Amino acid sequence: MGIAAFEKQAGEWCRHCAPGRGGCKIYDTRPEECRNFYCNWLLRPDLGPEWRPLDCKMILLVYPQGLTVHVDPDFPDTWRKEPYHRQLQLWAFKAWQARMHVAVWIKRRRIIILPDRDIDLGEFDPGDRIEVSVQMTVLGQTWSAARILAKHDTSKQSIGAAPRINTA
Ligand code: SF4
Repeated sequence: MGIAAFEKQAGEWCRHCAPGRGGCKIYDTRPEECRNFYCNWLLRPDLGPEWRPLDCKMILLVYPQGLTVHVDPDFPDTWRKEPYHRQLQLWAFKAWQARMHVAVWIKRRRIIILPDRDIDLGEFDPGDRIEVSVQMTVLGQTWSAARILAKHDTSKQSIGAAPRINTA
């Protein structure tokens, strides 16, 4: 995650972190945004032991737009494995019902998890957002997603053509 106090970008090591040597070097004086950080592993007793971040190499966070799965870049495919991927798809369906979405973040790369498929939307810039839509077909519902560019909010790199029903 980014840390505004240090102008640290998401996906970069914090300069105060000593991996394997005790972690945070300024723990007693760390900034407020670090003190106030609680991932879902700490907040949700319903998560099974498989979701322990050190084991699964993922951190779950809930934002207003939905669930974000921050993936350790050294283990970029961990979210594809089971039982994770099936659980993410189940959450994606619930998120859709609540007009939200589930997205995997690997540094700047975003992959949207939809109830029926995953879509790699590529690398995002700050302010870009995800739009999810659904289409009714004779075979049932099918979902698609698009990256909405922050600079040109009316233009989008769309993957899958579908009428917009939901904005996430
Ligand atoms: S808790 Fe410490 S190491 Fe982690 S981001 Fe904050 S200052 Fe950096």
